[in-house]
Amino acid sequence: MIALPIAVPSTQDERAIPKAGERLTRDAYGRPMTYLRISLTDRCNLRCVYCMPAIGMKFAPRDELLTDDELLAVVRASAKIGFSKMRLTGGEPTVRPHVADLVREIAHTPGVDDVAMTTNGLLLARLAQDLKDAGLKRVNVSIDSLKSDRFTAITRGGKIEKVWAGIEAAEAAGLSPIKLNAVVVRGQNEDEVADLAALTMTHPWQVRFIEVMPLEGVGTVHDEGLVTTAETIELIERDHGELEPLEAPLGDPARVYRMPGAIGTIGFISPVSQPFCSFCNRIRLTADGKLRLCLLRNDEVDVRDILRGGGDENDLIEQIRYGVWRKPWGHGLAEGDRNTGRGMSQIGG
Ligand code: SAM
Ligand code: SF4
Repeated sequence: MIALPIAVPSTQDERAIPKAGERLTRDAYGRPMTYLRISLTDRCNLRCVYCMPAIGMKFAPRDELLTDDELLAVVRASAKIGFSKMRLTGGEPTVRPHVADLVREIAHTPGVDDVAMTTNGLLLARLAQDLKDAGLKRVNVSIDSLKSDRFTAITRGGKIEKVWAGIEAAEAAGLSPIKLNAVVVRGQNEDEVADLAALTMTHPWQVRFIEVMPLEGVGTVHDEGLVTTAETIELIERDHGELEPLEAPLGDPARVYRMPGAIGTIGFISPVSQPFCSFCNRIRLTADGKLRLCLLRNDEVDVRDILRGGGDENDLIEQIRYGVWRKPWGHGLAEGDRNTGRGMSQIGG
């Protein structure tokens, strides 16, 4: 296992928390914080093997989830202090009622200049145009296999035809760029990475391969199933020849490549073998109103309490600043640390 890329900076000094009125763009380690990943719901219409247990998934009671008004208050407050990019995720964001209305409000929030969504694509055929009209710019669609039976097995019930129809609808609606996410799991789909990568020969998409992470509720999928990026690259190059490295946009955790002759690109997201903590620019808002400061650590700061306790926008901003300042340096997977308590769908992947 490769250790964290650079040494952890000195301990945070809470006295140095930026004061109200300052536009906060950096955490205690100097990393600019510009990206809020918002979980619209912990519910989902699938049960992917690496994300949720087959049965017994516990969902938060409805009254614990942020209402639309509460969620928008957090968006407005965070946009005022430098969060300009919002990604809607979950659970499955498209199962949230009135999702297009929420997108419209978020996209029109002063300070927000980019609204994206990560979705399993099942409902996209119906929603893509409305989402685009509401201000959504782009989508990442999760697709781990191109084989119908296997796709159904990995997602425990998903129909690949619906996802394809969703991807086509997203393209027709002008959501761009389209990125496809595939979590690579040994014994499930590592024999398909070359076929998934080959989609970039005929489509201007980015196909992204993600290392499976050890989150709560999915047993030993990670320990037995991890396929490192190095191995995935090897499998792709064996069929398609050497990949050409490209420069990734600033803040993008993916390492980006192109296959010879391809019109699209390939991204590799390697949280386990090559952590990108040193340039992490994001925090997460869970559907039940916690700021999750690092995906793989349990540190959270409550914003729902502020909202429901009569706090105003300044109180909310203070709480977000406090959360940003407390953001841990990085995850500890290389040291064997595991987060506990919440699965991926409960955090907002
Ligand atoms: N339901 C939507 C979807 O599947 O795209 C959005 C939420 S899902 C939690 C966000 C992303 O996290 C998906 O691309 C999914 O494949 C990925 N993911 C889920 N569990 C994971 C795990 N244990 N390790 C790595 N990626 C995971
Ligand atoms: Fe649902 Fe997405 Fe998790 Fe699959 S990865 S179970 S689609 S939240």
